[in-house]
Amino acid sequence: METALNQFDFDTCIICEERKPSGIRICNQLICDSCQREMVKTGVDQDKYQFFIKKLGKISIKIIQDEEVHEGKCS
Ligand SMILES: [Zn+2]
Repeated sequence: METALNQFDFDTCIICEERKPSGIRICNQLICDSCQREMVKTGVDQDKYQFFIKKLGKISIKIIQDEEVHEGKCS
């Protein structure tokens, strides 16, 4: 995913709460690359999935899984 996303200043990832230089932004919330990868490979039957859901709040996990990210688009 080499897109314009990397041009953003460091921001705090909503999942791991660390400041990261790159990632995806949904509704102005940053999800860093490593957390995004974690989410993609985490199955719905895993405990971690619930953790991600909680962190994401209103942001749909489906957006992550589809990897069809549209900047600034809130569901
Ligand atoms: Zn993160």
